[in-house]
Amino acid sequence: MNDPASLKQLAGELQACRRCPLYRHATQVVPGEGPARAKLMLVGEQPGNDEDLAGRPFVGSAGHILDEALEDAGIARDKVYLTNAVKHFKFVPRGKRRLHHRPNAEEVRACHLWYEAERRLVRPLLTVALGATAARSVLGRAETISAVRGKILDLPDGGHATVTIHPSFLLRIRDAQDRTQQKRNFVADLRRAAQFIAS
Ligand code: SF4
Repeated sequence: MNDPASLKQLAGELQACRRCPLYRHATQVVPGEGPARAKLMLVGEQPGNDEDLAGRPFVGSAGHILDEALEDAGIARDKVYLTNAVKHFKFVPRGKRRLHHRPNAEEVRACHLWYEAERRLVRPLLTVALGATAARSVLGRAETISAVRGKILDLPDGGHATVTIHPSFLLRIRDAQDRTQQKRNFVADLRRAAQFIAS
């Protein structure tokens, strides 16, 4: 990979990536999106079915939850750089459906250079890892969310990181009361992130 000089160039180079097998079955690669100098970067796990079809991150049901939570936290989505640790959709076919399949450590490692290239271009003040896979990519090590959630951690490039849940976690909670509480906690994490970049 040539070190891209812009996010546009990076998105172009991503199209040709064959560093892991995930490009084979996905519809297309899903680059990050947002301002080139965003103070806040949000990193998810990988594109889902809707993102794979649209070619854009966080446009499916988890993306709608994220949009609501960002609004509740007072964060404008268009001021945030949104990306994923892994840029192609990994799934298992079930009839006509494609079920999300978590990327493995090797795939996260293979895709990490794209994330690093995004960081060099955007240089965010704070990076929010959404879920354990994103935390592995952002922190460079495996962590449980409960061990690091809510902390502001230093990154080797001078930036900072914090870890929270992936919004898709909220979609899997059956109990309405629990879901409401978990969403409140998620919004509180995002609000803390907004306060950090404002301070
Ligand atoms: S998932 Fe990442 S490393 Fe694998 S082919 Fe896609 S862009 Fe390349």
